[in-house]
Amino acid sequence: MPAPAIPAFLLTLCRFLNPDRSSAVFYSPAMQLNTQPLSEWIPGVKHPLIISGPCGAETEEQVIQTARGIAALGKVSVFRAGIWKPRTRPNSFEGAGPQAFAWLGRVKTETGLLTTVEVATAEHVELALKHGVDILWIGARTTVNPFSVQEIAEALKGVDIPVMVKNPVHADIQLWIGALERLNLAGITKLAAIHRGFYTSDKTCYRNIPRWEIPIDLQTQYPALPIICDPSHICGRTETIQGVAQKALDLNMAGLMIETHVNPQAALSDAKQQLTPLALGILLDSLKVRNVTSANKAFTDQLEQLRVMIDEIDEQMIRTLAQRMKMINRVGEYKRDNNVTVFQLERWQEILKSRMAMGIIQGLDENFVKEVCELLHKESIRRQTEITQVGKPR
Ligand code: PEP
Ligand code: MN
Repeated sequence: MPAPAIPAFLLTLCRFLNPDRSSAVFYSPAMQLNTQPLSEWIPGVKHPLIISGPCGAETEEQVIQTARGIAALGKVSVFRAGIWKPRTRPNSFEGAGPQAFAWLGRVKTETGLLTTVEVATAEHVELALKHGVDILWIGARTTVNPFSVQEIAEALKGVDIPVMVKNPVHADIQLWIGALERLNLAGITKLAAIHRGFYTSDKTCYRNIPRWEIPIDLQTQYPALPIICDPSHICGRTETIQGVAQKALDLNMAGLMIETHVNPQAALSDAKQQLTPLALGILLDSLKVRNVTSANKAFTDQLEQLRVMIDEIDEQMIRTLAQRMKMINRVGEYKRDNNVTVFQLERWQEILKSRMAMGIIQGLDENFVKEVCELLHKESIRRQTEITQVGKPR
């Protein structure tokens, strides 16, 4: 099936959002993925698919208690737990290792939940298959490395098991697609992508910024590929998980992976972002699941996607404004230190003229640009005046 046509305005918007990596956005896929819907790998799966469990399996007690708590909610289908934890620094908790397979076995028989673990090497795959794990996932730190992904793919040749691939740590959609392709070429058709956000050195309210346009792009290129959102790793703290989870559902994502721990404060990894099973229940009850068969689905999907892009643009605009004001502070200090007046008529006239010309080229209304410039200038003058009045630091 040919790739669906991408509306030109969406292309333009995404290029605008990603001026530095326009070639990475809406890249034409080299191959179509041959994937099966979630209903083929989890019989009777409800929408959205909920995957939950601790960041890491720590003790048998912690695993069983957490699993019992989330199974009692009646909304979770899959129990997750990291057995080998990829840690940034050595000498941190690196997972309980293969002894935890027996704990997961107990989870399965006692609660009926399916189980999933993270695999990063061929050996992990071999052990997970040997111990009857139902679903595998590849972590963000592994997706970045084509050698590792290929090694996992080779180990899975001839095996019929679902595999979920987290996005790579950095915002490179090609690496994400490449990992999915490697698995698909090895014969894995029960494939899903997990969106867990992207590393940024900017100060944001997220642990990993969502960059929603990237999973939207993935979905646009591969409409049949289920995408699951991991709000826990996007947020890095419990307070904001609900909003991100709701946004993921509003974008029609197929499911959510949310970390839970029977005693989050005592968790050996990702303590700040794990919910108790009880809190997970409250969160899941609060989510609004849109009717996917609505007559207006195409319209609402499009609207939601556009709004998400607008949110991102606004965030960028606010950051840019903050940067401009930092510069203004420096200009103010420089003028003060050199005994120069805050206001210079020529500079202001030049700003107004050039910005209005730029705005016209961009198709913006002339008066609108003028008003924005006046507002910026007013604030710049206010700041510089304040700086001048403070006086020269000793
Ligand atoms: C995890 O799911 O616990 C994990 C290590 O996540 P990520 O690969 O997204 O960092
Ligand atoms: Mn984690």
